[in-house]
Amino acid sequence: MEQKIPYKIYLAENEIPTQWYNVRADMKVKPAPLINPATLKPLTEADLAPIFCNELNKQELDNDTRYFDIPKEIVDFYKMYRPSPLVRAYFLEEALGTPAHIYYKFEGNNTSGSHKLNSAIAQAYYAKKQGLKGVTTETGAGQWGTALSMACSYFGLDCQVYMVKCSYEQKPFRREVMRTYGAKITPSPSDTTNVGRKILAEFPGTTGSLGCAISEAVESALSQEGYRYVLGSVLNQVLLHQTIIGLETQAACKKYDIKPDIIIGCAGGGSNLGGLATPFIGEMLRGEAEYKVIAVEPASCPSFTRGKFAYDFCDTGMICPLAKMYTLGSQFIPSASHAGGLRFHGMSTVLSQLYHDGLFEARSVEQTEVFEAAVQFARVEGILPAPESSHAIRAAIDEALKCKETGEAKNIVFGLTGTGYFDLYAYQKFNDGTMGDYIPTDAEIAESLAKLPKVE
Ligand SMILES: *Cc1c(COP(=O)(O)O)cnc(C)c1O
Repeated sequence: MEQKIPYKIYLAENEIPTQWYNVRADMKVKPAPLINPATLKPLTEADLAPIFCNELNKQELDNDTRYFDIPKEIVDFYKMYRPSPLVRAYFLEEALGTPAHIYYKFEGNNTSGSHKLNSAIAQAYYAKKQGLKGVTTETGAGQWGTALSMACSYFGLDCQVYMVKCSYEQKPFRREVMRTYGAKITPSPSDTTNVGRKILAEFPGTTGSLGCAISEAVESALSQEGYRYVLGSVLNQVLLHQTIIGLETQAACKKYDIKPDIIIGCAGGGSNLGGLATPFIGEMLRGEAEYKVIAVEPASCPSFTRGKFAYDFCDTGMICPLAKMYTLGSQFIPSASHAGGLRFHGMSTVLSQLYHDGLFEARSVEQTEVFEAAVQFARVEGILPAPESSHAIRAAIDEALKCKETGEAKNIVFGLTGTGYFDLYAYQKFNDGTMGDYIPTDAEIAESLAKLPKVE
């Protein structure tokens, strides 16, 4: 095999991008602002100041600055695990017998096992710079909590994590990694907050949801002096930090003159997809190039493909700001049998607007077909992928198989967001043949959407 393009394309350390890209600067239709549920007015920096760190609020509300300098302290931390490789999946291509060229940007090469560290380290840096004592957050599958624990211990900040109860029970080892980095973990919903007690009274025996855990973490930050709340996805600032993924991908592609045709990312709250794809979508918005971008979400929590583009709460307890996004309703709780992550009811407002404006497409996939793709990938490419990432693998394989039919040698780039070492309970269910596919009915989604706040 002539191998002009290496199996792994690495950038040199001094080629790590030193700025993040803000796609909002290139959007003609800006994402709708976050609004205050009490006044229905757009939130200002002053409104956000008690909840989030000041510098991050600036990033959150800035629709105009195209590039933000990455502080040197963060670039230095990035050097411990970045640049991440862009890998040519030669072995997967061979196994599929496809003429397509498949590439994946691998973000699993750090202890947190996912891309989440890219934003965790930035958020911890700004919290430290502001002189805070600590931060609170929620975690679903556990990657965000782990990433934030690592970032907080690096900067000497206290870290309090509300972990969705079903994953707290299913993933004791993730919990232990976080504790090793000094974080305090509480299963959610808990009786340590008003909102947690209220949710427990209303839904006794609930296994929790990200929306519940967010409500608890926010309440907990507001009730402690010197604490702020941080979030690992959905927010504009998180998408901004994650663009390091897409910018590195662009630089790696440039080295070998690779022009991606199809760009694929899994979509939970939208941070990895936004991080990988928005630098490319920016080229589309500026009229410089065309790409086919695909968001892949679970059929059990299908915000883009079956949700509504409307203002909604970001949390179950309905104490957070309202965001205009594709949502299944803040009261939507995905089936506990869904093991593949990506359980959030809403979606980034930036990606929601871009999707609404037709800049990318979305599809949903069922969890057994996701795990089939995960196993196929693991056996030929050597990496045990996270279930979330495997949604993107599924779509990449499907696109490569289409190329096999048409004979087209398209360049497919997908985000391999992380590793699945803490998801072996889910792999066990798949290997035992006891994994099912749960798809919410139209009636269930309609019932949840009927409870959307009345805004417009
Ligand atoms: C959190 C996570 C996701 C999904 O979150 P996004 O914000 O949609 O990127 C995907 N993959 C992995 C490995 C994750 O940890």
